[in-house]
Amino acid sequence: NKKVILKNYVDGIPTETDMELKMGDTIELKAPKGSSSFLVKNLYLSCDPYMRSRMRDFHGSYLPPFLPGQISFLILMQRIEGFGVARVIDSDDPNYTPGELICGITGWEEYSLLRNSNELQLRKIQLDDAIPLSYHLGLLGMAGFTAYAGFYEICSPKKGESVFVSAASGAVGQLVGQLAKLNGCYVVGSAGSKQKVDLLKNKLGFDEAFNYKEEADLDAALKRYFPEGINIYFDNVGGSMLDAALLNMKVHGRIALCGMVSLQSLSSSSQGINNLYNAIPKRLRLEGFLQSDHVHIFPQFLEHVKEYYKEGKIVYIEDMSEGLELAPAALVGLFSGKNVGKQVVRVANE
Ligand code: NDP
Repeated sequence: NKKVILKNYVDGIPTETDMELKMGDTIELKAPKGSSSFLVKNLYLSCDPYMRSRMRDFHGSYLPPFLPGQISFLILMQRIEGFGVARVIDSDDPNYTPGELICGITGWEEYSLLRNSNELQLRKIQLDDAIPLSYHLGLLGMAGFTAYAGFYEICSPKKGESVFVSAASGAVGQLVGQLAKLNGCYVVGSAGSKQKVDLLKNKLGFDEAFNYKEEADLDAALKRYFPEGINIYFDNVGGSMLDAALLNMKVHGRIALCGMVSLQSLSSSSQGINNLYNAIPKRLRLEGFLQSDHVHIFPQFLEHVKEYYKEGKIVYIEDMSEGLELAPAALVGLFSGKNVGKQVVRVANE
């Protein structure tokens, strides 16, 4: 059972060498009797920016850190974990039958023994010819849900409003922009390469897009695209982009603080925010959120987004890496913008 482990705790941006592919042990492809567990074959793994918070030696978060390799006596528990799509192979849990497909937290390994301890993190999924299975990690998974919950529950969008999205071509951003367009908004996205900017304008239906790496002055860039100001900023990056957006918000604007992927280290506070004062005269609402607080609308999200996709009203871009051995590179690529769209790793064929 090949698996990817964390070698050492990381503070700052993880690198490929912080992880290691281990050949693992030979395992019996059976769920032990009396264990109430079930064995799955992992098919697709999701790479998500939040995973770096589990690579830190920090126990105060809502998820515990991964166990790094140097704690050798706990070898069986060492593995990186994240969302995945998997097929049940054997089961000692009457609720799971061999052959069924699931989406939930699984190990970065070929086979995982799972236990349904948290219903919210595990759901059964059906094959649907119209929707790729891996989309349960992106469009129909945590990333898509973050876009949906963040946009509708936090941003309070109204038709005709102006919306700015950062990391706009990524797993979350690309859906935020498309939902905003369906909502009758004017939408501009920022991204880190010409290829991504072209996708935003030509494939994802954004009204405008720009490469923030080519802008010496982010405030001036936002003024160019929003001469009358921004109603909604969906912030995926934090840092200097958030600071520039604060200068360009309209009165009563809303900022959804979704993520701060630009932070070099999660133990520092947001670097370089000088313009927060604007929140007062402009009566801005800045709200941080976690998608997991909105699970009550998950069924509604699935229904709406599946329908939009099947009707051709939205598209979704995925970046697929082939093989478990490429998973560390795929994960660290998120922090330099290597991924074009939702980053997924194919571990085995369906
Ligand atoms: P993406 O698919 O967007 O991948 C990350 C992207 O971030 C990269 O492609 C890159 O795009 C951009 N990026 C990387 N480093 C920097 C930097 N230094 N400055 C600016 N941009 C950078 O990831 P997701 O869509 O999965 O996640 C987007 C955000 O949403 C993250 O901050 C994540 O933590 C957050 N999130 C929050 C959740 C919640 O519940 N609040 C749940 C899920 C995600 P580019 O090339 O354009 O720079």
